[in-house]
Amino acid sequence: MKFIFVTGGVLSSVGKGLVTSSIGLLMKARGFNVNLVKIDPYLQIDAGTMSPYEHGEVFVTEDGGETDLDIGNYERFLNTDLKASNSITTGQIYWSVLTKERRGDYLGKTVQVIPHITDEIKNTLKDRGKGFDITVVEIGGTVGDIEGQPFLEAIRQMKKDVGKDNVIYAHVSLLPYIAATNEVKTKPTQHSVKELRSIGITPDILFARTELPLSDRVKEKLSLFCDVDMEAVIEARNTDLIYDIPLRFEAQGLSMLLLKKLTLPQHRADLEYWKEIVQKVRNPKREVTITIVGKYIEFKDAYKSLIEALKHGGIANSANVKLNWVDAESLDQQNFASVFNSLKKKGMLDGILVPGGFGERGIEGMINAIRYARENNIPFLGICLGLQCAIIEFARNVCGLKNANSTEFDKETPYPVIDLMESQKKIKNKGGTMRLGSYRELLKEGSLVRKIYGVEIVRERHRHRYEVNNNYRELLERNGLTIAGISKDGDLVEFIELPSHRFFIATQAHPEFKSRPERPHPLFSSFIRVAIEGKG
Ligand code: GLN
Repeated sequence: MKFIFVTGGVLSSVGKGLVTSSIGLLMKARGFNVNLVKIDPYLQIDAGTMSPYEHGEVFVTEDGGETDLDIGNYERFLNTDLKASNSITTGQIYWSVLTKERRGDYLGKTVQVIPHITDEIKNTLKDRGKGFDITVVEIGGTVGDIEGQPFLEAIRQMKKDVGKDNVIYAHVSLLPYIAATNEVKTKPTQHSVKELRSIGITPDILFARTELPLSDRVKEKLSLFCDVDMEAVIEARNTDLIYDIPLRFEAQGLSMLLLKKLTLPQHRADLEYWKEIVQKVRNPKREVTITIVGKYIEFKDAYKSLIEALKHGGIANSANVKLNWVDAESLDQQNFASVFNSLKKKGMLDGILVPGGFGERGIEGMINAIRYARENNIPFLGICLGLQCAIIEFARNVCGLKNANSTEFDKETPYPVIDLMESQKKIKNKGGTMRLGSYRELLKEGSLVRKIYGVEIVRERHRHRYEVNNNYRELLERNGLTIAGISKDGDLVEFIELPSHRFFIATQAHPEFKSRPERPHPLFSSFIRVAIEGKG
């Protein structure tokens, strides 16, 4: 059992997640069976109860885990499905220790952070490592955070438990750039490594996040002050293309370094497929602009997987997908047509996408955007809340159901076209109780989605509480809407489309979670293809 632990210094958001994903990809490319684990030192059991403004998107796994968005990067880089258990929080660790305490497992003892919490952490990590050659563990937050201390102590002890040839400590740190003197500074990194060493961890590898290329002089300095071999100081330079990062690391000899330290056989690296992807992204043949009408648009991390899935749709069509963000709250009944008309004139409306979301804010703007897409034959893709808004729009403006709404936004609506199912009405606790994870969906013969997927039964991941109200299905269909997919086990609406339209599709699920650079999702690829065709 081999472990690579990734810690972060100086600031959060220096790229630990991408370092972890890249290490995973490189080890996989060398023929090893790799697992990737994220530790989040917050007290929640999972990310599900946090607003997107707190932690960005909540990434949903096949088995319904509501996890940190880094798990999404892991899946995209590794092209594999991870589980809820790949995401560990302080809350889970304490929950488990306290459950054991109540059961009497520690009878007679005082239950303490060391050894009980740290043992629980170590056992959890060893469990995640089972069946894998290498497990890469990213510790969220920054060295020095109070919340992170028990995890750092646990990974320090792991070296003793599993042996020194089986553990690598990698530290990702920021070298701030000072424009006045045009240089990068190593001092904050020296301090963060000092902090790490004070708890008994000396990094084997240092990833230096930097705006400028690392000169030998800077490398020498880091090597000397941080006690890391010169060859183990890896430059992590800012890039506009995250998929290029593993290749940049590999060019600096990273995977050989890891294999040597872990005393693993040095299989040849198979990275051709990945180079091809990067090559395609770097050399697009065409360009297309998708307008996204959402409610968290100031904070792009809230739409992490969606942005990636659209880019993958671009890869499938050799296109550069540009994104134009419109704040749903800025659109009202009076201005929406002129806003979109002017976007169209500027060539920025090749497609409209309405993504997922929670709560009433911005809903009317999304409904107006969908109306514009429907009436003007603009390719439209609606995701989760996007589907619900499309149903509301169609009910109001085509079926004539004035003030139709979702009971999430208007409890008194005369036409609750989106509503809670009976089982959801009984639920009191908000954590982990939405319709979560992968469900089987049956696609209608002859529908566009069936053609796009090319199969009858698909599996997509869900994260929502509300559903299309089945009482209105017949009316919607009579007015020209096609229910193109239903859930296999519950007769719930999963896909809708408009046969009279060029591309008007919405889904109750989140297909963006399953798109990978190696395997662009068919819905996104088709959406982008039709958007390109519309440019003429
Ligand atoms: N708020 C809606 C619901 O709970 C949609 C959720 C979403 O878009 N993920 O059903």
